Amino acid sequence: MTEVIELAGIGRVFPADPPVTALVGVDLRVCRGDYLAIVGPSGSGKSTLLNVLGLLDVPSSGRYLLEGVDTTTLGDRRRTGLRGSRIGFIFQSFHLLMYRTVLENVMLGGLYTGVPAPERRDRARAALDRVGLGHRHEFLPSRLSGGERQRTAIARALVGDPALLLCDEPTGNLDSANTAAVLDLFDDLRADGATLLVITHDDAVAARAGRRVRITDGRLTEVAPA
Ligand code: ADP
Ligand code: MG
Repeated sequence: MTEVIELAGIGRVFPADPPVTALVGVDLRVCRGDYLAIVGPSGSGKSTLLNVLGLLDVPSSGRYLLEGVDTTTLGDRRRTGLRGSRIGFIFQSFHLLMYRTVLENVMLGGLYTGVPAPERRDRARAALDRVGLGHRHEFLPSRLSGGERQRTAIARALVGDPALLLCDEPTGNLDSANTAAVLDLFDDLRADGATLLVITHDDAVAARAGRRVRITDGRLTEVAPA
């Protein structure tokens, strides 16, 4: 099975007066090893889609299969378990714990996988080597550059060996040199077989992905290759 994501007719309506329709009839297939960028203006539904894909939110309609598992009929516990074990999140603002070391932060990424702490520590070390931060284990995040913080967050996302990396504006807080370093790292991860889905405002970031889709008023359209 090579399909990581299959969305069919996904809709999301937020109850309000009047109700807000954030996603309409979204169909999307993402295969193992795909590197996909999602672009769209503010308010178009990007975060709503990311929340659905990340099993943080349940769509109002449609079906979402993650690695063949129909997530739309799962109970909360199984949804949470699937999220912890199969999805790695990378956010614009890194979401690191400021009073924990880099190594401790990365170990937290595997917390819900049921793997014992010593093995999680080994995996965290390996993930930090992979992102080029093998020399920063004992640093607190406050002593890292923005790019190093994001690479720490990427290591944390990788440590549970997820099927899917979901990135929401991953370079939004980075200068151009650190953006370049993170994009180079994404290329390496992709070459190693990772499946990457990146939400971005930045055309230069989107241009690095193998495939681009645009979201406008909650509707998804494939962007023809350049
Ligand atoms: P983007 O991430 O592309 O900026 P969002 O997915 O955050 O867009 O929002 C899409 C639309 O859904 C917007 O009109 C937003 O105001 C609305 N929206 C998002 N979350 C909620 C919510 N919890 N309740 C009501 N409306 C929401
Ligand atoms: Mg958003």
